[in-house]
Amino acid sequence: MKPQALPRPLLPDASPPTHRLYADVAVDAGPGAPEQLFTYIQPEGEPVQPGQRVRVPFGSRGVLPGVVFALRDTPPPGARLRRIAQVLDPEPLLGPVELELAQWLAEVAICPPGSAVRPLLPPPGEPLRDEPVYSPADGAPTDDAALARAPAQRAAWRAIHAEPGLTRAAYLARGVRPAAIAALMARGWLQVGAALRRRDPFSGPPGVGGAPPEPTGEQAAALEALAPYLRLPRQGAFLLWGVTGSGKTEIYLRSIASVIAAGRQALVLVPEIALTPQTVSHFRGRFGDAVAVLHSGLGAGERHDEWWRIRRGEVAVAVGARSAVFAPFQRLGLIVVDEEHEPSYKQEETPRYHAREVALWRGRRLGIPVLLGSATPDLETYDAAAAAQIVRLDLRQRVLDRPLPSVRLIDMATEAPGTLLGKELAAAMADHLGRGRQVLLFLNRRGYAPLLLCRDCRYLARCQQCSVSLSYHASDRQLHCHYCAAVRPVPARCPGCGGPWLQLRGIGTQRVAEEVARRFPSARLLRMDLDTTGSKGAHQRIYEGFRSGAADVLIGTQMVAKGWDVAGVTLVGVVDADTALHHPDYRAPERTFQLLCQVAGRAGRGDEPGEVIVQTRTPEHPAVLRAAHHDYAAFADETLALRRAAGFPPYGRLIRLLVWSRQAFAAQSGAEVLALALAGRLPEGVDLWGPSAAPLAQLRGQYRWHVCLRGPRDAAAAMRAAARSALREVAGRLGVARAAADPDPQSML
Ligand code: ADP
Ligand code: ZN
Repeated sequence: MKPQALPRPLLPDASPPTHRLYADVAVDAGPGAPEQLFTYIQPEGEPVQPGQRVRVPFGSRGVLPGVVFALRDTPPPGARLRRIAQVLDPEPLLGPVELELAQWLAEVAICPPGSAVRPLLPPPGEPLRDEPVYSPADGAPTDDAALARAPAQRAAWRAIHAEPGLTRAAYLARGVRPAAIAALMARGWLQVGAALRRRDPFSGPPGVGGAPPEPTGEQAAALEALAPYLRLPRQGAFLLWGVTGSGKTEIYLRSIASVIAAGRQALVLVPEIALTPQTVSHFRGRFGDAVAVLHSGLGAGERHDEWWRIRRGEVAVAVGARSAVFAPFQRLGLIVVDEEHEPSYKQEETPRYHAREVALWRGRRLGIPVLLGSATPDLETYDAAAAAQIVRLDLRQRVLDRPLPSVRLIDMATEAPGTLLGKELAAAMADHLGRGRQVLLFLNRRGYAPLLLCRDCRYLARCQQCSVSLSYHASDRQLHCHYCAAVRPVPARCPGCGGPWLQLRGIGTQRVAEEVARRFPSARLLRMDLDTTGSKGAHQRIYEGFRSGAADVLIGTQMVAKGWDVAGVTLVGVVDADTALHHPDYRAPERTFQLLCQVAGRAGRGDEPGEVIVQTRTPEHPAVLRAAHHDYAAFADETLALRRAAGFPPYGRLIRLLVWSRQAFAAQSGAEVLALALAGRLPEGVDLWGPSAAPLAQLRGQYRWHVCLRGPRDAAAAMRAAARSALREVAGRLGVARAAADPDPQSML
């Protein structure tokens, strides 16, 4: 029986209690709420259990949702107790382990339990109703010439042909006219299908079928090490450190197969950007319909349905991004975290969790293995493996003895200023294209040019809401903010001095595309960035277009760097390796190194060896140099030594406290008040930095200040306690400003 969240009648508040028990409830009162549970009187007639959702009166804020965490016989002293207003679940929705997880999350993420439990709850939404779906009738003409005089019907026919099996509402949303559907029905061209209950954006492409490849020696060794953990299952944390193209996915697939054979379920996390139909098709190809996909592109009803399908045990494997780590499996046997170094695993709003840490917690608590995979592990994971807290499984070779691509570094200081494609890259492109091969060009910056600058007065076009420059986009000839999406026209004259000398500086993907079209006019070109992938299915169309050989050159941002497996690519060109190298963030070199290795790894995945050309202005920088030599270990050792000397993670802990407000003064003075409160309760050996304006001093109209705590690793709990109590102390004194703690920050901007 599917427990449904049916509202029950409100209980009269005045009636005397008939139960002696009280319930401690995690109330979802938003991020700024007190970090505690609140005690309520049991509702009359139907005592609640821990794990049930309820609605409770909360101060002047009316009735709020919450989850019962515990029961008690005596109320806390002095409390003026109110009664639970409504019970939402007929039986507990969350078990003891889930409640423990929420409590752990509230502790490590420094947030109220009512916020921490939110990602564990089913997404809001109504279950999808059975609805009729339309598709072309058997025997309907394949040629739509007969509809030449009925453009609305023709458009409807094409839409239904392109995506058969959708509901009427779905076609209307795609611009189909209701009358056209009726007319096609009358013609006998359409059939109404059996109701389709589930639909997700990935049900379209068929899975990659065929017999699985025979494991290589290294793959076999890794699988052998994992086998005893998968069968029982048994607790274990593993780092699958495999170079690009070493066949990590095959290890995931075979591990999952043993978990399923043992009657258990598996959860696979991939970065949001890599959660594409082709990724999912690997899993669907091997495990069919038992695979659920959890994706931010799902509608509310779909998300709701997928959550309940997993909760009811109808799913063997779930593939999803960050928040899928909370998927409500009841017989979990394995968690895989692919590309475990990806920053997108950190949630940047309350509750600020890191999906990898949650996965490791669940693995420990459930006694199951957790498999972290990467070619370029997070330095913290690598260090944990060196300290034997995580077992390392290495894949040092690509499959089928394919070599890693050779990488050449080009110092752009030797090229004319403003050069986009240097001599070597242009020559290599001509060579590979001339031989009918494919070229991937990488530049992690979309738009045409990142700067609009006055030659005379140095005026720079900036966003009014964010402290960043505006990018010029050639597609609409406007200025765009990449942080808040504001769009502004290009001024005709310089707003600073009134002069005519506004100039575009720097390069984005649109400008590279223009340059490639100019220099290689016969090359067929595709571009993949946020701007070309906005519409449904666009990502898939571009990828398939490139993979099938319908294009010769693909220009893209980091979207093309993750997990792509296109055999025709023999040349990868990095147009500018330095775009993020000088960010004021201690992780900037690590991120640059990882991205360069990932993108270089796209070359030579077919029969022919690959070649990579990296254009940079800092060829001697370790992040660039080590990436060129595929030397992760050397980069890690050097960078970890610097981190150790500076007391930075993984050798120290950071907590960043952010204060923000639409009023500049409120943000600054709030940060000062908070810093004072922190200074009064600093644990032994912990430093306090700031307050200072954050590097990204304004974002979406909010002024941002921050304060940082840095301390030794074993001071983490004391640091969190200090941050928590300082936040509580200043809560009433921040005026219009808001404050939040970000433990183990992934971004210092
Ligand atoms: P990684 O994720 O490590 O970069 P992939 O998992 O994408 O590598 O694998 C790269 C390619 O090698 C894929 O096309 C995959 O199907 C193929 N492959 C994996 N294992 C084997 C094997 N043992 N023999 C042959 N091909 C393999
Ligand atoms: Zn902006």
